[in-house]
Formats: sequence, C-alpha cells, structure tokens
Amino acid sequence: MVGMQARLRAALLPGPCALCGGKAGPGGWCAACWQDVPGQDEPRCPTCALPGARQAACGRCLREPPAYVRSFAACSYAFPIDAMVAQFKYGRNLALAAPLGTLLCTRAREAPRPDLLVPVPVGRVRLAQRGFNQAAELARLVAHDLQLEMDPRAALRRDADPPQASLPLSERARSVRGAFRCARALHGTRVALVDDVMTSGATLNELAATLLHAGAREVHCWVVARTPESA
Ligand SMILES: [Zn+2]
Ligand SMILES: [Zn+2]
Repeated sequence: MVGMQARLRAALLPGPCALCGGKAGPGGWCAACWQDVPGQDEPRCPTCALPGARQAACGRCLREPPAYVRSFAACSYAFPIDAMVAQFKYGRNLALAAPLGTLLCTRAREAPRPDLLVPVPVGRVRLAQRGFNQAAELARLVAHDLQLEMDPRAALRRDADPPQASLPLSERARSVRGAFRCARALHGTRVALVDDVMTSGATLNELAATLLHAGAREVHCWVVARTPESA
C-alpha cells in the first residue's frame, strides 16, 4: 500500500489532462475538458441528487424519504466520466483519483460542512481483490482539500453481497440490507458519505440508516457522479 500512496501523491502534482493529455492544472483537468464534464450545472433533487428537480425534493424522496437528508452529485454518470470511473475502479488507474477527486472537492466546498467523512466501505474480499477502495481514495483527497476528518474504518461491510452493478435496480435495496456495521462512536455527528457513483441510492441509504442507528445526527451523500434514472 505504500507504493499506492506514493502513486496517489504523484497524481496530485500538475501534469497532463486526464482526458486529452493537454496542459492541465493541479486538479488534473484542462479547461476545455472540464467545461465538457456532463451535468455539472444540472438542477438536482437536494435529497438524492436525481436530475430534474430544482430546489424541491423529487417525487420518490417525497413519497419515501431516504435515511440521508442531503446529497450532491458533482456531475452525471455519462461519457467520459463513466469510462474514467471504470478505469479508476476496475483498471486500477490510480492517476484518475485526482481528476475525479477534483470534481468532488469543487462541489464539497459549497456543501454544509460535516464533522466526519466516511467512504462507502467495500468488503474485505473485494478490497483484497481490487487492492484499494476507490471511495476511500476519493474521500482522502476531499479530506485533505477541505481539512476534514476522514475515517475509512468507521463502517464495515460484509462480503456476501453480489456486486450492486450486477443486479437489477429493483433488487438492490434488498441485497444490501444489513450489509454494514458501524465501528466507531458517532454520537451527534454530521457525517458525509463519499462514493464514486450513486445509482439507485440503495447502498448509501442502507449505510446512512446504519450510521443514524449508531448515533449520527444526520447523514449527507457526496458522490462524483449520479445516474439519471433511479428505481
Ligand atoms: Zn483536456
Ligand atoms: Zn430525490
């Protein structure tokens, strides 16, 4: 893991744009590619970050309020962000932590300040397979940028779940039920959960419910990208 940390630090130095290879700033983007990131200014539901609603909660959040009270998505899960997330997560291209983290940091600076950042954990088996937790690497960058406390071990995840991406949206809430355990005292804290992609919101909802049960005061979700549709 030492080599991985060194590579992550290297990814924060100014270098070529992650997308076009042109001259980029310290965040890993050139101005033109940054302009083209989809959905940065899209109006979104303040509760679940689903696109469409402006200032008001979407129909689903009104009918069935989730355990988290606020969410932001820095952009839409569409090209080129979907490809970047796949290369980061499955292709283990850790250099992409910086440009994806920059998206998160930019929005996080405007968000209500939490007491603690908690990356969505992966199970031990998956962590060993992948070698890193992409949410924890993103949370580390945000914690550094905003000077926030971050605890990648605040919550633990069981290994039994099938990957959410392999399940139809309708089955995701059921598959993730009971998946998390809180491993530290959270009494009265405002927690921001950090993840790369929010799809159905089922995973974040289950984790938020677990942390509230463990004493958190409120839970927000900070994600890089949100899919447009939700079950
Ligand atoms: Zn570029
Ligand atoms: Zn909503």
